[in-house]
Amino acid sequence: MSKVFKILILPGDGIGPEVMAEVSKLMQAVEKSSGVKFETTFDDIGGAAYERYGSPLDKTTLDTAKQSHAVLLGAVGGEKWDNLEFSLKPEQGLLRIRKELELFANLRPAMCFESMVDASSLKPELVAGLDIMIVRELTGGIYFGNPRGIETLADGTRQGVNTQTYNTKEIQRVARVAFELARKRDNRVVSCEKSNVMESGILWREEVTAIHNNEYKDVELAHMYADNCAMQLVRNPKQFDVIVTDNLFGDILSDEASMLTGSLGMLPSASLGEIDENNFRKALYEPVHGSAPDIAGQGIANPIACILSFAMCLKYSFEMNDQAEKISQAVNDVLAAGHRTKDLIGNSEINLSTQEMGDKIIDTFIKLG
Ligand code: NAD
Repeated sequence: MSKVFKILILPGDGIGPEVMAEVSKLMQAVEKSSGVKFETTFDDIGGAAYERYGSPLDKTTLDTAKQSHAVLLGAVGGEKWDNLEFSLKPEQGLLRIRKELELFANLRPAMCFESMVDASSLKPELVAGLDIMIVRELTGGIYFGNPRGIETLADGTRQGVNTQTYNTKEIQRVARVAFELARKRDNRVVSCEKSNVMESGILWREEVTAIHNNEYKDVELAHMYADNCAMQLVRNPKQFDVIVTDNLFGDILSDEASMLTGSLGMLPSASLGEIDENNFRKALYEPVHGSAPDIAGQGIANPIACILSFAMCLKYSFEMNDQAEKISQAVNDVLAAGHRTKDLIGNSEINLSTQEMGDKIIDTFIKLG
C-alpha cells in the first residue's frame, strides 16, 4: 500500500493560482517518482474566498486545513479588496489560518543557487554557497500583545500602543524547532533578541539557554543582539546556520536575509505548529511573495518560490528528503542552463513564461530519475 498524504491547496489571489498550477503538475511527477499518493483538496482563501464565502477564510476551509497533513498556499491580496472592512481583507485570511492552526514557527531559508550569485546585491564570494535557515516565532510578540491600539490622551495628543509579550512555553517550543533543524544541518544556532534593552529579550535568552542546557547540549548555541545580527547578515552571512528569533525581529531579519539571494520569486517558506495526535506537525507552505497584482494574469510570474515551498513540504511534513533534494537540483540545473523568468532577467524576448519554467523544472526532475 502506498502512503497517502492529504494536502489542502489554497491558490488564493493574483499570481497565486498561476504559480500553484505548476506545483500541481509537479505533484503528479513526484507521485510517479516516489510511489506516494497526494490526496488534494482545492479551496479558496483571501479575496477569492471573500467572493465565494463572504469571508477571507471560511470555517469549512479551516476545518479541511485542520484535517490535512499539510496546506499549500499561493498568495492573497489585491486592490479590489483594499477598501473592505479590516476583518474582511484578504490578508486577514492568511493571518487567521496561521493563528488557528497555531503555526508558531516560520521557516525562511536563504539559499543562493550557484547560478544566481550575480543576482545578489552582495559580492559573489559573500553569497556563493549561502545556506541559512531563519526560524521566526510567528504567533506571539508585539504583533499580538495587549494592550494595543491608538488612544487620545487627556491633552488631546494621540498615542499608538503595542506590547511585546513572550512566555516560557512560546519561547521553548520555537527554540526546540530551531535546535532540531540545526541537528539536521550544520548543528549551529544563533538566538537573536535585544536583552540589553527589553525584558522579553532577557526572558528569551534565559529560556533558550535553559532548553539548550537541558536538551540540546550537542548543538552549538550563540546569542546575538538583533541589531548586530542585521549587520552581520550583510557583512558575513555565511557565518550563520540556523537563526532563531521573535516575531518582529524575525520579520525584518528574514526579509533581509532572503534578499541576499536575489529575487522575491525564488523564496519559499514553511510555517510549522505542534505535532498532532496522529504524529503530524501542522504545517503550511507558501512562497514569500504576495499576489503581485502588477503582473497577475500575464503568465509571467516565477513559479520557483511556490515549487520550492512544495519541496519544503516534502522535506518537513512527509520526510521525503530525496524528492525535495531532487526538486532543488532540478531548479538549480534549469537556472544553470540559463533559463529565466522575467523577474530574473527582465528581457521580454528570451524570458520563459510561468508554464514554460514549470515544464522545464518538471522535465529536469523526471530526468533526474
Ligand atoms: P508582491 O510580493 O506581491 O510583489 C512585489 C513585487 O515583486 C511586484 O513587482 C511583483 O510583480 C514582484 N513579484 C512577486 N512575486 C513574483 C513572482 N513570483 N514572479 C515575478 N515577480 C514577482 O508584494 P506587494 O506588491 O507589496 O503586494 C501585493 C499584494 O500582495 C498586496 O495585496 C499584499 O497585501 C499582498 N501580499 C500577500 C502576501 C502573502 O500572500 N503571503 C505577502 C506579501 C504581500
